[in-house]
Amino acid sequence: MEQITYQIKPRTSKVELPAKLGFGAIFTDHIFEMDYSPEKGWHNCSIKPVEKLSFHPAAMFIHYGQSIFEGLKAFRTVNNEVVIFRVEKHLSRMNRSAKRICMPQIDEAFVLEALKELISIEQDWIPTKSGESLYIRPIMFGTDEVLGVHPSKDYKFMIMLSPVGAYYPEGFKPVKILMQDDYVRAVRKGVGDAKTSGNYGASLLATEIANKLGYTQVLWLDGVEQKYLEEVGTMNIFIEFENEVATPKLTGSILPGVTRDSVIQMLREEGYTVNERLISVDEFMEAYDNGKLKGVFGTGTAAIISPVAEVTFKEKKMVINNGEASPLAVELFNKITDIQRGSRPDNFGWITKVSAEVAV
Ligand SMILES: *Cc1c(COP(=O)(O)O)cnc(C)c1O
Repeated sequence: MEQITYQIKPRTSKVELPAKLGFGAIFTDHIFEMDYSPEKGWHNCSIKPVEKLSFHPAAMFIHYGQSIFEGLKAFRTVNNEVVIFRVEKHLSRMNRSAKRICMPQIDEAFVLEALKELISIEQDWIPTKSGESLYIRPIMFGTDEVLGVHPSKDYKFMIMLSPVGAYYPEGFKPVKILMQDDYVRAVRKGVGDAKTSGNYGASLLATEIANKLGYTQVLWLDGVEQKYLEEVGTMNIFIEFENEVATPKLTGSILPGVTRDSVIQMLREEGYTVNERLISVDEFMEAYDNGKLKGVFGTGTAAIISPVAEVTFKEKKMVINNGEASPLAVELFNKITDIQRGSRPDNFGWITKVSAEVAV
């Protein structure tokens, strides 16, 4: 296995986190980085100070979208341990994304060890209040300097860390979302189920239009007929019907969310009927009209659970559960955050402990 070289810059002062952390705007001092070439495989593995990068204008990732990422979180638990939530699942998804975009595979066990070391070194940056966490952003991109459209030979892989604030510092704030059929996010057999940069570029215009109309997110419909629900913003979506919790099945254009998977497992354990299936716009509106739509929420690593207060489709405004978070959404949010914070047993094996020792 590759050796990691360490270039640690000692701090001259204690880490001071601002009172309002927000999301993804503050970064820790160091990153993990490695390079790939067909001859050497992954090499130059190092933990080193964050620096600006320098690339030739022809560097492939700038042009043709060979760029993927992950997003996961580490926490300081109530017992003062440092843990990562579902890290194996995130690293295997990264390899899945890499395969789809013709990029090399990473050694998941090695990257996990490197990540643990990086977090150990940066542990003073982990915020401690409830809801706060250390957001982990692994990225990979093609770096060849050539304008032909083909897979890059060389790649860079990096992990950066960012302390982030609570998503709901003042309690749940259910969001208004716009269901629309003017734009789609992804199509089946395309790259919607890979966490690759182009998907997010593709989502910006519709989101901006929705924002201008007063909605927080777009509810994406399928790319073929605009008939079925797919995702909400960059989250998966769950619908609470009368006797069933349903979420769109993974048809290929939907990102297989780790939080989605966690929610499905928890609900099944509690005896709920959970179905991964097609959910049509017509079915959704009919259930609403008949009073059979009990709740709607999004799931994703950043917000964990994002209750939906209102869904608007063309002229039809649908207020969900009187605009309040459903009891189920609240319960799921509390259970997942309790497991992450170590105040509820981890019966699912979702928690990976980061060793407290700094291995330098
Ligand atoms: C990352 C992401 C999600 C949520 O995935 P999690 O693993 O739960 O964070 C859902 N949809 C899209 C489009 C995403 O990029």
